[in-house]
Amino acid sequence: MKKGKINVQTENIFPIIKQFLYSDHEIFLRELVSNAVDATQKLKTLKTVGELNTDITKLRVEVILNKDEKTITIKDNGIGMTAEELDKYINQIAFSGAEEFVNKYKDADKKNSIIGHFGLGFYSAFMVAKEVEIISKSQKSKSTPVRWTCDGSPKYTMEETKKKTKGTDVILHIAEDSLEFLEENRISSILNKYCKFLPVEIKFGTKSEKIDDPKGKKDDKGNIIKIDKTYDNIINNTKPAWTKKPSNLKEEHYKEFYKELYPMEFNDPLFHIHLNVDFPFNLTGILYFPKLKNNLEVQKNKINLYSNQVFITDNVENIVPEFLTLLHGVIDSPDIPLNVSRSYLQADGNVKKISSHITKKVADKLSRMFKKDRKDFEKKWDDVKVFIEYGMLTEQKFFEKAQDFALYKNTDNIYYTFKEFTEKIKEKQKNKEGKTIILYTNDTKEQHSFVKTATDKGYEVLELGGPLMSHLISRLESENNDYQFARVDADIIDKLIEKEQSNVSKLSEKEQEKLKKFFEETVDKEKFNVEIQNMSVSDSPLLITQSEFMRRMKEQQQLSGGGGMQMFGSMPESYNLSVNANHELISKILNEKTKKKRTKLINQLLDLGLLSQGLLNGEKLTEFISRSVSLIK
Ligand code: ADP
Repeated sequence: MKKGKINVQTENIFPIIKQFLYSDHEIFLRELVSNAVDATQKLKTLKTVGELNTDITKLRVEVILNKDEKTITIKDNGIGMTAEELDKYINQIAFSGAEEFVNKYKDADKKNSIIGHFGLGFYSAFMVAKEVEIISKSQKSKSTPVRWTCDGSPKYTMEETKKKTKGTDVILHIAEDSLEFLEENRISSILNKYCKFLPVEIKFGTKSEKIDDPKGKKDDKGNIIKIDKTYDNIINNTKPAWTKKPSNLKEEHYKEFYKELYPMEFNDPLFHIHLNVDFPFNLTGILYFPKLKNNLEVQKNKINLYSNQVFITDNVENIVPEFLTLLHGVIDSPDIPLNVSRSYLQADGNVKKISSHITKKVADKLSRMFKKDRKDFEKKWDDVKVFIEYGMLTEQKFFEKAQDFALYKNTDNIYYTFKEFTEKIKEKQKNKEGKTIILYTNDTKEQHSFVKTATDKGYEVLELGGPLMSHLISRLESENNDYQFARVDADIIDKLIEKEQSNVSKLSEKEQEKLKKFFEETVDKEKFNVEIQNMSVSDSPLLITQSEFMRRMKEQQQLSGGGGMQMFGSMPESYNLSVNANHELISKILNEKTKKKRTKLINQLLDLGLLSQGLLNGEKLTEFISRSVSLIK
């Protein structure tokens, strides 16, 4: 037997390995299973380059749990190691790798600094084991099997041993404080998390409890014979959909894979994007647009990042653009640097390229879908619009590309691109200053009377809603100087789109002043700004509106949580009260002799205006009802 001491440059790293990454001890299994998979892949490579004479038996990795012995064995039938190789790779290279890794990260913020804590490698075994054995036989002919042990100190032993078949067994003697890893469920969920799509069959079995022989066999004394309960499952899909050629996959395959990724997900995805790049970086993957639920927050962290089919993390922040973190699916790239801090990742050139490439792919796919089957795209629009609008607001490149397929629906449920829509209304909805006004509503029910007034005039009204809309509107306005958005209830229609020739007034200037005074005496002057307008005879006698500017400020402030825009926070609600000078009822008010009756009529009109804006409630509503009854009488 050879005894040795690993050449330690810094202090003893084992205690550090053990403490460090305390929340992520489970990754030891990922590291060891990955090594085992690599060993089988290397064997395959040797065979293909003709350097292996023997046949390859079915390549596989086994994870065996033994509760009695308190061990976990990771067994592969891969390339194996000779004593010299083991000394070189494990005692020297792997150790110094682990040492370097620990030195680099022992002071780092444990939670956020490293994606998936990649790179600790073989020595991560000591996060859970008090002793590790390696029993290995190289694929080289006539090689002597070797047994290596290390008890967590820098001392190790190496000796000849017996092993018939090529490959490596790594046996972990689980430490007292890590006994949780001897639970079947724990191991199986770790395997399911990290190893579900590894390219070589992974079997998971236990050798632990004795159970009654199912055949009911008895021993000499008549006792039922107990046998080892083993369960032996292949836990992975070695050829997940993203590793296949898109041309070999049908729609249903993508859906099946989605179910495989998210067994708890009830709805089918809306559509998918298969990513496949090999220059200037390697990246494959499938992104899915999920069927939306109400709360966007819960949907995040659904994209899984893999490196050569090994699961790394489901936190892809800084790797894919923010708006795409709402998508589901898989990204696999060996080119994403995995053992670096997130801030480094953000600045990494490759990652930036990956991010902009994914954005481009998503935009291209949407564009293709739109061109290929517009009707179908329109059907999906309401479900995907949040992603697209979010993307348009946060990524300039995406905003530009989205001009081809971002849709705007009018109140007759006809969908237009921005270009199509503006072409259509350009002349008709141009005001006297030469700007074209895009009318919209965010609630067709609440703003029904305003929508009707506008459409009766032959104007088009868009239905624009959702939390991001007011930001998107500002954005569109700043890109298109000739256009301006106005919500239908922001003013009377003839003011929203002000034309050269306006209606003449039935009333003289004097009469108008008198009328204004009457209204100002009656309504709350703080709240309502009274304006006498020359609307058409058939328009409402009185309209309550809130200016586009005021309302947008408030909306954007609400969206940003109110902070930083205090000046609007303290602003009271204020409205424009437009009195239609040409309406019959208004003439009646003007000519009304008694103040009491006049006040009653003005209040009635005011309440009707409030009612049509959904602003009348409580005591005011009760008053309105009894006043109405008395007026009918
Ligand atoms: P890495 O896998 O990143 O190279 P590790 O510390 O995990 O670092 O492993 C160090 C080396 O030990 C590997 O590169 C490989 O040469 C060797 N090794 C580890 N596990 C096995 C195994 N199961 N079979 C063959 N060689 C192995």
